[in-house]
Amino acid sequence: MDWRTKLLDPAPRARRDYTSLATPVYRGSTVLFDDQAAVTDDWRQAENGYSYGLYGTPTALELAARLADIEGARETFIVPGGQAAIALIYLSYCPAGSHALVPYSAYGPNKAMAEGLMRGVNVEVEPYDPLIGAGISDLIRDNTTLIWCESPGSVTMEIQDVPAIVQAAHARGVAVALDNTYAAGVMFDAFAHGVDVSMQALTKYVGGHSDLLLGAVSARDDAAYAKLGPIYQQLGLAVSPDDCSLALRGLQTLAVRLDALESATLKVANWLVDHPRVDQVFHPALPSCPGHKIWARDFTGTTSVFSFTFFEDLSADDVIGFVNALKVFKIGMSWGGVNSLAVVYPNLDRPNHDFGGRIVRLNIGLERVEDLVEDLAQAMQF
Ligand SMILES: *Cc1c(COP(=O)(O)O)cnc(C)c1O
Repeated sequence: MDWRTKLLDPAPRARRDYTSLATPVYRGSTVLFDDQAAVTDDWRQAENGYSYGLYGTPTALELAARLADIEGARETFIVPGGQAAIALIYLSYCPAGSHALVPYSAYGPNKAMAEGLMRGVNVEVEPYDPLIGAGISDLIRDNTTLIWCESPGSVTMEIQDVPAIVQAAHARGVAVALDNTYAAGVMFDAFAHGVDVSMQALTKYVGGHSDLLLGAVSARDDAAYAKLGPIYQQLGLAVSPDDCSLALRGLQTLAVRLDALESATLKVANWLVDHPRVDQVFHPALPSCPGHKIWARDFTGTTSVFSFTFFEDLSADDVIGFVNALKVFKIGMSWGGVNSLAVVYPNLDRPNHDFGGRIVRLNIGLERVEDLVEDLAQAMQF
C-alpha cells in the first residue's frame, strides 16, 4: 500500500485488549459492517448492534445503560440537554390535536415549548396547580395524552403527589412524564411511583461541575421505549462522546457530592429560617415548603437548590441589592455544580401568588458552609 493509503487504513495496529477503569471516548459517525447483508439503520443499537454514531457511540450507550440500571428503567436515551429531553417527550407523546397538562411551577423553557412549538403543531398544553393531586382527574379530557410532573417545581419548590396523579392518569390511559432533575434521578424513584417516562438534565448533578450540557430520558417499559425511539431517531439528538465521558466520571462521585451538598444546603436553609429579614424558606425538608409531607413520604433526601422570600418591608430593588452584594455566591442560572449561586426572580409568573420580586433561589456548592453563611449575613445588612 502507498503511504497515502496507509494513512487512511482504519485497521487497528495496537492491541485493543486494554481494560481500564475509565470508559474510552469512542468518536465516530460511520459504523463498519462485516458485509452488505449486515447493513442497517436501526436506533435499537443496545439490542441489535451498532449502526450509526447518531444513535449513540459505545461511550453514550455506556452512560445510558448505567443510568437505566440506577433508575430501574427499561432503557435510557442520552440527548444534548435537559431541554432536548423535554422536547423528545413532548414530540413522542403529543400528536397534533392532543391535549397535555403541565404544572405551572414547571421549568420555564418547558412552558415556553408548550406555548410555542407545541401550540404551533396544534397541541394544547394546559397549566395546572402542582398541588392538585388526585384532582387532576377533572382536567383530563378524551384527547389528553400526557401529564407532566416536576417535583419539586422550579423556583417555588412545590412537591407533587406523583402517585395520585399517576393513578388518575392511568385510569384514563394517559401517560405521565416526570422532570426528575432535582432528585438527580436517585432521590425520587420515578418508576416505583408509577411514572412512564422520566427525564433529567445531566447538566446538573451528574455532570456536577458546570462544564457540560446533557440530558437523559428514561423509559419505564417496552411501550415507552417504542414511543420514544423513533422520534429520538428522527430528531437526530446526537451527543458528544467527550461530554458523555465527563458524565460517566461525574457518576463516580455523585453519591459523595450529593451527601455533602445535602448537609451544607440544610445548614444554610436552617440559618435562613432564623433570620429576621427572611419570610419563607422553600426547602423540601422544611414544613414551610408546599407539599413537605409528600416529600417526607416519597423522597429519600434533598439536594442543593431551594428558594426563600424576604418580608414585604423590603423592596424588589433591595433584593437585587442583596444579590449584587454577595461575594462567595455567584449570580447565575443552572445548578448542581461545585459553586454556590444566587438569582432573583423579579417577575416570577405564578397565578396564585405575587412574590413582588422578593423570591431568591440559591444553589449551594462545595465551599466551606461557614463562608456561605457569612456571605449571606453581610449581604443582608439592609
Ligand atoms: C436545567 C433544567 C432543565 C434543562 O436542562 P438543560 O441541560 O439546561 O437544557 C430542565 N429541567 C429542569 C428542572 C432544570 O432545572
